[in-house]
Amino acid sequence: MSRRGWVNAEIICIGTELLLGHIVNTNASFIASRLAGAGIDHYYQTTVGDNHKRLEAAIKKGLQRSDIVITTGGLGPTVDDITTEVIARSAARKLSRGKPEGAKPLKNPFGTALGFILKVAPEKTIIALPGPPREMQPMVENYVIPYLKKTAKVAKIIKSRSIKLIGLPEASVNNKARDLLRLAGAVTVGIYARLGEVELKIMAKADGESRADIKIKKIETIIRKRLKPYIYGVDDETLEGAAAKLLLKRKKTLACAESCTGGLLSNLLTDIPGSSGFFLEGIICYSDESKVNELNVNKETIRKKGAVSAEAAKEMAVGIRLRAGSHIGVGITGIAGPSGATKTKPVGLVFIALALKNRVIVRQFNFSGLRKEVKSQAARAALNMLRCELL
Ligand code: ATP
Ligand code: MG
Repeated sequence: MSRRGWVNAEIICIGTELLLGHIVNTNASFIASRLAGAGIDHYYQTTVGDNHKRLEAAIKKGLQRSDIVITTGGLGPTVDDITTEVIARSAARKLSRGKPEGAKPLKNPFGTALGFILKVAPEKTIIALPGPPREMQPMVENYVIPYLKKTAKVAKIIKSRSIKLIGLPEASVNNKARDLLRLAGAVTVGIYARLGEVELKIMAKADGESRADIKIKKIETIIRKRLKPYIYGVDDETLEGAAAKLLLKRKKTLACAESCTGGLLSNLLTDIPGSSGFFLEGIICYSDESKVNELNVNKETIRKKGAVSAEAAKEMAVGIRLRAGSHIGVGITGIAGPSGATKTKPVGLVFIALALKNRVIVRQFNFSGLRKEVKSQAARAALNMLRCELL
């Protein structure tokens, strides 16, 4: 099952509140990420309630198929905390001073419930950790990972890098990265899509960080060659961050006239520290009157073409640019839904215009999704238009 000198781990999270959906199982993802970082294979996660029989079955199953079983939760002193007792029973150990016989205690500086490491057989170990994340996390960092690294003789690590794309549908990204997505072995690539955006995640397993970096770089270069215009960032980088960086770099100021996005674009941009360096003004011009009075949109434009039209978006962008005295003006108008559609104008129809010094760019989008999803996609499409214009 495991390579020589190598171990694999599995995680069992204990707590009925997890099964009821009262709390999100962040412990599983935290431990999983630390195992991956240490290069320790991990093939199973189980969530089980505070129930003796089912917990015992989960622990026994875990010991059969994995070398290390890591549990979280149920270590405290209350009646519903049954983990210690059930681990002792599953491993056929007596309880002595509140721990299974032979267990090595793990200090818990942030709480009262100690964790423990119990070697059940030469290649089978149970590690029990408390449930509260602020107690469990330092124990993983300080004791569990160092212990596992010592046990696992080969120190492979897993590193990942996310390449974030916007403006190209998932199917097209898939086509352009088909060969990469089929990679199996030390480097793999995954594809994840949400609301018109796609993430390509490169994962590399190697002996040490720098070797993993080299493997990742190779694949990243290929991806960049094929999909460059659509890539706005990597890992934690955001689209608003990318747009803001370019505005500052090109020393351009911005003002936004937003109808259907209700200020979302301005909000995203002002989330960026230092946004006062480029953001001058934002107006939510929701009604026709507001568009006319605040931005000088022509009444006739609205009467003939409608407030949701390329022409209205253009006039909004020009209007806000003049009003604020900015280099760039953005105008967004559309139908966020669920009501408001007409025969010719469906929900999700959005026009976004950028007014620049000598010209106005306008694009039409047909987004799908719920009201908030349409708003979000519209604001992000505007950010992407800005990004592309300033590249
Ligand atoms: P305590 O001594 O605090 O009771 P414990 O080890 O008995 O510690 P639990 O009683 O199972 O832990 O859980 C305590 C709290 O820890 C939960 O109410 C929850 O807030 C948090 N918690 C438990 N398990 C998880 C989990 N898998 N993911 C995120 N939070 C968790
Ligand atoms: Mg408890």
